[in-house]
Amino acid sequence: MNDELVVLGGGESGVGSAILAKVKGLSVFLSDSGLLKEEHRKTLLDHGIDFEEGGHSEEKILQASEVVKSPGIPDTTPLMRKIREKGIRVISEIEFAGRYTNARMICITGSNGKTTTASLIYHILKSAGLNVGLGGNIGRSFARQVAEEHYDYYVLELSSFQLEGVYDFKADIAVLMNITPDHLDRYDHDMQKYVDAKMRIVRNHKMGDSFIYWMDDPVVTKELEKLKPASDIYSFTEKNNHLATAYSEGNKMYIQTKGTLFDMELELLALQGMHNLYNSMASGIVAKLLDISDDNLRLALSDFKGVPHRLEKVASVRGVQYINDSKATNVNSCWYALQSMRTKVVLILGGTDKGNDYSEIEDLVRQKVRALIFLGKDNSKLHAYFDGIVPSIEDAGSMKEAVDAAYRLAKKGDTVLLSPCCASFDLFQNYEDRGNQFKDCVRRL
Ligand code: ADP
Repeated sequence: MNDELVVLGGGESGVGSAILAKVKGLSVFLSDSGLLKEEHRKTLLDHGIDFEEGGHSEEKILQASEVVKSPGIPDTTPLMRKIREKGIRVISEIEFAGRYTNARMICITGSNGKTTTASLIYHILKSAGLNVGLGGNIGRSFARQVAEEHYDYYVLELSSFQLEGVYDFKADIAVLMNITPDHLDRYDHDMQKYVDAKMRIVRNHKMGDSFIYWMDDPVVTKELEKLKPASDIYSFTEKNNHLATAYSEGNKMYIQTKGTLFDMELELLALQGMHNLYNSMASGIVAKLLDISDDNLRLALSDFKGVPHRLEKVASVRGVQYINDSKATNVNSCWYALQSMRTKVVLILGGTDKGNDYSEIEDLVRQKVRALIFLGKDNSKLHAYFDGIVPSIEDAGSMKEAVDAAYRLAKKGDTVLLSPCCASFDLFQNYEDRGNQFKDCVRRL
């Protein structure tokens, strides 16, 4: 064994970790089984970082003192098994970068709502003048920011994969939006393993650290009883329940913290829909814990611009509204999308299945969906579930075919909703590519 840090994966997360290691004077080697993006290759060369692509030099890697594993790499690859067998410590970028900053960490996880909530919290803190960075699953990696910038606060969106590799890192304010089945293909189809990864958000919590969660989430409630974290606990609910830190009553939402009561009219919130009320409430609690003034909070909750590909309005064509919810990569997020629809819907769904159970959306589909369009390489599971439930079902092999079919099937006053329930990798590069193609096709109608 030597003292070399090995970074596995050369995406934004891995490249950021390698830069940080180099800046901190560590000996570092980055290895990727695939080919790197040109910009990443150039960055590594510019920083004089030793790397390989298109395959792994196992012998060299197995000499590592520690491995930073990128979130996209499953634990089950032959190389990962060998690394574990050798007893080499495997950490995530978050654990690694967390060693080099004293900033206050506000971390958001959950099956759905992470990006929206992290972006909204960032917007609130930045608008109030705090020196804050936004990272994790979004934009520039946390590690790269720690290497190149200085912030007093970080808002980090953390996936279960990033949390798995966290040991000493602590989220000073931990937000857990919800836990519903997702990524079960990466957890041996064992929901508890996924739940355990998510609950690592309260790891190392002591009194004075904060944990914010959705009070009505049955999974999280049960885990809290089991784990009994030492954190100060705050909760939110859309119901009129004054036991929660944030709740709604009449046409307002309320947040009670530190003996004060913040209130705001629901219709003034920039983000509409029940799921977005959760996101606004969780963000509002963080803001109040950080002593953001009521005026600043109210303004930021009302002028937030939203995040693309999450219930994003694209256009209205001949009386039909087109909505891009390409980021709905699991069944639960599609449920919230359907739930917030006020018209009949032509729903485009499908893609790479992640162990989906469609029974969760069956009732809403029966009530609201006029036609289904299956957009995927293999639609057999969707047919097996929905045939006979919705009278009109069509298959599409490309986004253009899907949008053309939707245009044909929608009636005036309807909504065409892309909310796929699935990952996008069978036909698209990623969910952004899927959403952008949808928007392009709609604009060409
Ligand atoms: P994540 O980063 O966890 O994937 P996003 O904010 O990107 O979450 O939203 C993903 C999808 O889930 C979108 O379709 C969005 O409309 C929906 N969504 C957003 N917030 C919530 C929430 N609190 N609960 C359920 N679904 C949500």
